[in-house]
This record gives sequence, C-alpha cells and structure tokens, in this order.
Amino acid sequence: MVLSLFGKKRIGIDLGTANTNVYVEGKGIVTGEPSVIAMEKDSGDIVAVGKDAQNMIGRTPGSIVATRPMKDGVIADFDTTAAMMEYFINKVGSRFGQKPSVVICVPGGGTEVEKRAVIDAAMMAGAREAFLIEEPFAAAIGADLPVNEPTGSMVVDIGGGTTDVATISLGGVVSSNMNRSAGDAMDEAIISHIRNKFNLLIGERSAESVKKELGSASLEAAKELESTEIRGRDLVTGLPKTITMDAVEVSEAIQEVVADIIGIVKETLEQTPPEISADVIDRGIVLTGGGALLDSLTEAISDAVDVPVFVANDPLNCVALGTGIALSQIEVLQKRK
Ligand code: ADP
Ligand code: MG
Repeated sequence: MVLSLFGKKRIGIDLGTANTNVYVEGKGIVTGEPSVIAMEKDSGDIVAVGKDAQNMIGRTPGSIVATRPMKDGVIADFDTTAAMMEYFINKVGSRFGQKPSVVICVPGGGTEVEKRAVIDAAMMAGAREAFLIEEPFAAAIGADLPVNEPTGSMVVDIGGGTTDVATISLGGVVSSNMNRSAGDAMDEAIISHIRNKFNLLIGERSAESVKKELGSASLEAAKELESTEIRGRDLVTGLPKTITMDAVEVSEAIQEVVADIIGIVKETLEQTPPEISADVIDRGIVLTGGGALLDSLTEAISDAVDVPVFVANDPLNCVALGTGIALSQIEVLQKRK
C-alpha cells in the first residue's frame, strides 16, 4: 500500500481472446470489455475499442475493419494488440499520472516470441515495466485454489479462443495442455451446421447468442430446453431469412468441440503424477472462463473422467482476479524475468 502511495501503480490485465479485464491494485476489477478494435482501413486510425467495436463486427462499411487481435490466443497482429492495450491502460491509467507496472495474463502454450510480443506491446502501450503470468495459473489463483500448497489442483479455463488445462502444486504448473477447442470453435460449429443444413449464413454474434441460450454439453439435458428463431441471409435467394432451431440441434452442432475439451482434460490427467491425481480426485476439477457456463458441461466432464467437476465462483473474472492477486508478488515475477 505504501508503495502505491509513492506512485508505484500496478495494474493487471487479463488479455483474453474474447474479453479484456483490467484489475487495478487497491481497487479490484475496474473494467471488462470485449477484446475488439475497429480501425479505419487506410489510415489505421482507431474508430472504437471494446463494446463499441464489438457492435461493429460484421456490420462495418468497407472502409472500417473490426477485429479481435487476440482471436486465436496469440498476438495475430502486433500493432492492433498494442493499440488495444493502450486503450485499456489509458482508460484506467489517466488517474495515475505516471506509467504503471503491468502484469499481463496470456493463454498458456504461446512461444517465447509471442510472449515477448505481448511484453513489447504493453511497453508500447505505456507500461513502465511488464510481466507475464500464464492463464491457467492466474485462473487457479482467482478461483481460490491453494496454488502455493503441496496439494495438487486442476483448473480448466475455457475462453473464446483457447482451452487451457493445468495441474498446479507448490506455486508451479505441473502438467498443462492447451487447444483451440473453446467458445469460438463452438460458435463456428453452429455457423457451419446452419449453413450446411439450412443454406443460411449467420454472423458470429448470432451464433454466440444461440450457443449461450440453447447450447448444452448434454443432448439429454438439451431436450428440456426450448427452441429459438435465428436470422441470417439465405445463400440461395440472397434474401434475409428466419429459421427455427431447437436446443438438441444446437447442442449436436457443438458436441465435437465438447468432446475435444474432454479429450484435453483426459490427456492432462494422464500426464499427471499419481500423488497429484489423488489430490484431484479428492478436490475435484475447477472450471473457469466463459465456456465454463455452458449448460451441463460439469456433468459431461465428470461422467467422462470420473472426477467431481465444479464451476468457479464468477468464472469470467477468475483470471483477472488471479492476475490482480499476483500483482502483490510482482517482485517474484521480477526475479524470474
Ligand atoms: P477469453 O479469456 O478468451 O477472453 P472468456 O473467459 O472471457 O474468454 O470467455 C468468453 C467465451 O465464453 C466466449 O466464447 C463466450 O461465448 C463464452 N460464454 C460466455 N457465457 C457463456 C454461456 N453462458 N454459455 C456458453 N458459453 C459462454
Ligand atoms: Mg481468459
């Protein structure tokens, strides 16, 4: 606290593929917005960031592009990522009057070059110094798991672009895996199912809302859910069209992605030392990230691996919270650098 009074401001950024959440030391999570940026094509000028930019996805005129620079879990476009981070740092940083120290959480499994790019982007965006923390580790801290104790914990973070699975003990990651079967892959599966079966083209945002409303990891559970109307463009006539789709069909469309998530959990369990496996059986697996909210996912994973599965408290904010808690240990990260 004394440190912050003398101007060593610290902020934690959960640079998610779908959402960026910012934690300010002493304040908690102060902002959370979609990781989207809209820019003028020719000049590269920023038109909008966050929520405003998200509303433009799929609706921009030819001269503007709205993109998600972190979409696949890595920095696909360095300059746009830096611009987006600058927006978030300025949004919370204008009160600081000086450059903050920043801890950024990135999805696990990135290469050294990609990690370096995130740090460089943060420095370019106005950080005084920048450190990284791996997403599953931050998620586990935020989910209140005993990461520093000699007890094994397993966390599965299902975000937009990536699913990160890790077992953690004594302050370190013991085994981990990452794949791209996460929220976006479910949305894409819904889009392609609707295109193939109904000749209807729908947008990413429509697919996402259908998933949230009617998607389930269990086809049995989906039978209890309703059906919904979906609008898009008919690929044959080119005209707007509305179809009705029921929850079982939406859920069938995403089953392959759900199976891949279960697959990576199994794989990680197989790579886990026996003492830690025993702890995981006792304590269960904890799900974080927005994908943890998919209906019946806990049951589907638990049935497949025969271990209890829980959703963390406030799964969408676990990583930002964990990154925020890690700010108090910035000296440790400094030494590791
Ligand atoms: P990231 O860390 O990659 O930014 P988040 O943890 O913010 O991702 O999660 C975003 C993902 O969670 C999106 O794909 C979103 O569609 C999905 N999601 C959010 N709520 C739900 C829900 N109720 N059911 C299924 N998926 C959800
Ligand atoms: Mg995340």
